[in-house]
Order: sequence, then C-alpha cells, then structure tokens
Amino acid sequence: MQKDTAIFDLIQKEKERQMHGLELIASENFVSDQVMQAQGSIMTNKYAEGLPGKRYYGGCEIVDQSEQLAIDRAKELFGAAWANVQPHSGAQANAAVMLGVLNPGDKILGFDLSHGGHLTHGSPVNYSGKLYQPSFYGVEEETGLIDWEKIAETAEREKPKLIICGASAYSRDWNYKALREAADQVGALLMADISHPAGLIAKGMLNNPFDHCHIVTTTTHKTLRGPRGGMIMMPKDFENPYGFKTPKGELKMMSAVLDGAVFPGSQGGPLEHVIAAKAVAFFEALTPEYKTYIEQVQKNAQVMAKAFVEKGYKIISGGTDNHLMLIDLRSKGITGKVAENTLVKADITINKNMVPFDDKSPFVTSGMRVGTAALTTRGLKEADMERIVGLIDEVLTNVDNEAKISAVKQEINTWMEQYPLFS
Ligand SMILES: *Cc1c(COP(=O)(O)O)cnc(C)c1O
Repeated sequence: MQKDTAIFDLIQKEKERQMHGLELIASENFVSDQVMQAQGSIMTNKYAEGLPGKRYYGGCEIVDQSEQLAIDRAKELFGAAWANVQPHSGAQANAAVMLGVLNPGDKILGFDLSHGGHLTHGSPVNYSGKLYQPSFYGVEEETGLIDWEKIAETAEREKPKLIICGASAYSRDWNYKALREAADQVGALLMADISHPAGLIAKGMLNNPFDHCHIVTTTTHKTLRGPRGGMIMMPKDFENPYGFKTPKGELKMMSAVLDGAVFPGSQGGPLEHVIAAKAVAFFEALTPEYKTYIEQVQKNAQVMAKAFVEKGYKIISGGTDNHLMLIDLRSKGITGKVAENTLVKADITINKNMVPFDDKSPFVTSGMRVGTAALTTRGLKEADMERIVGLIDEVLTNVDNEAKISAVKQEINTWMEQYPLFS
C-alpha cells in the first residue's frame, strides 16, 4: 500500500515539538513506550461489545483476559470494589454515570466551570447542562477556597439527585466527608471525578474519595500517565443488599446499572487496544517507581507555586496541594490569551484559563493553568521548576520583545536536549 507520508511527516513534527519544548499543560503527560506499544497494537482490530466473558462477538478469549487484567489492576490501584474500563474518555465516563443514575430533567449540583470545574459537570454548552438541570457551587472570592458548608446549603435548597465533585483547575484537596453528609441530607448520590489528581489519590497523597463517594470517575491520561481514556469505579461496601433504585424505579445492583449505561447505553464496541494500554499504565502505576514519580510531581508543583508567588504572581488559593495551579494574571496586566500565545513562541506550552470571578470571556480569560505532571515525567526536579518560572516570567514581562522571547526559546531547546523523550 502507498505510504501516507502526509500524516507520518506530521507525526514526526509533533514528536519534535514535544521534545524541544516545556510542557506545562496540567492535563497532559508523556506515556511510556510500552503504553504506546499496547495502544498502537493489533488489539485495535477486535470487536468486543459486552464485558469479559459476556460478549456479543466470537474470538474474544484473549481480549477478555486483557480487559480483565485492566479491571483487576484498576481495582488494586485504587482499592475499588468494581471498575468499568471501557469509557472512551473522561467525558464519556461522566455521561454514562448520569445516563445510568438520572432521568432527563433531574437536578445535578456541580463545581462552576469558571471556578475550575469541568464542562461535563453541568455546563450549558454540554450534554450535562442540556439534559439535566444544573446548579453550581464555587470558591470564595477572598480565599479561592470552596466553602463546604455552603455546598450543603445549596444542596438543601436545590435538592439535586447527584452531587459532583472534582475539578480541572482547583489546586486544593476535597472534603469528601462533608460532601457525603450534604448528599445524605437530601438523598443525593455523590460522584467524584478525579480525572486530574487520580495518580496522587491512588498513592494516598490526597484525601481518598473511595471512603465517602458512591461513584468515582477518572481519565487515564493525566497524572495517571496512561492512554487517553476514562473509567468508572465504585468503592467497597457500596453495593448494599438493597441495590440501587433506577430512574425507572427498578431495584438493581449499581454495578449492573453502570455497566449497562456504558454499553449499550452510551457506547458501542470498546477500544480494546486502549484498554490494553490502560492495563499497562495501571501496572506501571502499581510500581515503586511510579510512587517516586508522583511524589516528585507534587514536590515540583509546590516549588513552582512558591517561585511564582515570589515573582509577584497571584495563585488562586495561594498555593497547591496537587500537581497544578491556577494563576490570576490581572496583577501583571496581561490576559490568559496573551500569556498562552506569547509563551508558545518560546516553546513553553500552558493553557489560558478562566479564574474565579473573571471579567473576561473564555476566549480571552484572566488566567493561566500550569501543572507539573509532564515536566516531572521528563525528569525535571525542584531546581528546574525555579528556572522554568524564571523563564516564564522573562517572557511574560517582555511580551513585545521578540529578541528576548527568542533567546528564551533557544535556552529551552538546548536545555531539553539533555532530557530525551521516547526511545
Ligand atoms: C479532563 C477532564 C475530563 C474529561 O476528560 P476527556 O478525556 O477530555 O473527555 C472530565 N472531568 C474532569 C474533571 C477533567 O479534568
């Protein structure tokens, strides 16, 4: 067959871009060679609608084993009682949960997108805000922190069927215990979406949502460092003998409800190549090397936050407990859009981000979000974080000085040659 040079040339260019630059996008990471090999494997050829042992296609004996390995490893990694590893993405995992446990029009309560929440937690532009009736909680303007009592009050007033916690741009830990009490008071289910800090949670470095939440969803490609994808889990002891009352009033085991909501509810055939790569990532995350890695991610984030504060940047909530931070650039007189577009010229990738109580649009924004998961995979340590903040500051205080920006880019490209990516 004729070779598709157009796409392979672009893949090569993208590889060079990843190798030459500094990756600070909080949701990105670099997967291992074996994760990539599994994802690029012949498992992609297999149709396997259904679950291991209960498929609608023949020839599933092998993918049954690899999917079961992914499930077992996910359960071991998080101490979960049940897992479904088929959701194609984090958004798909959340969609399946809502489809399973809600009726269209039911009320949900989530973290405000403009305060750090995710689109799938009730945003009006997303299915979650179109099919369900959302209300939101946010952070306090003074502190940048969530007030747990206020969530209980909002829940009392709104009476949601589902309370969603977790975020894309909140740098502090979550009080799952308080949220569960708020949920119990109104008979709501509590779902934690741990897409961002999943790796830190798996290693016991943050509060454990499995102690209090009914359902936990996550992506597999952020701090977990696996292939792009999602999954749904449930903690031990949730499946009580009474089961779960479905939106139609039937009594069913929650695991059966959620399995059914993934397939046939919202997806067709599972991506068995991606599931194999998820299994590899969970295997890696169970090793001591990963523990060392994820601890370094957190240390690096703390040093980075401190370095930004020392240079006069305002971090929402003043610091970080996890791998990311949200920076309000208004005190520096630039927008998130200018920051993103200028930093990329120096081969530093970040994303512009709304800050709580932002007065600018999502296309402009007043903030930027940065994280240390990818830089840490690359091998960078505390002192490097200080150097990076210095380089970011150099660019952001010279947004019109092409010579200075170009010098920073040169420095980064030379520096990154010492940290090869991909073998
Ligand atoms: C990234 C993220 C998602 C969505 O994941 P996709 O794989 O991009 O669909 C969902 N929830 C939260 C909190 C996230 O940060």
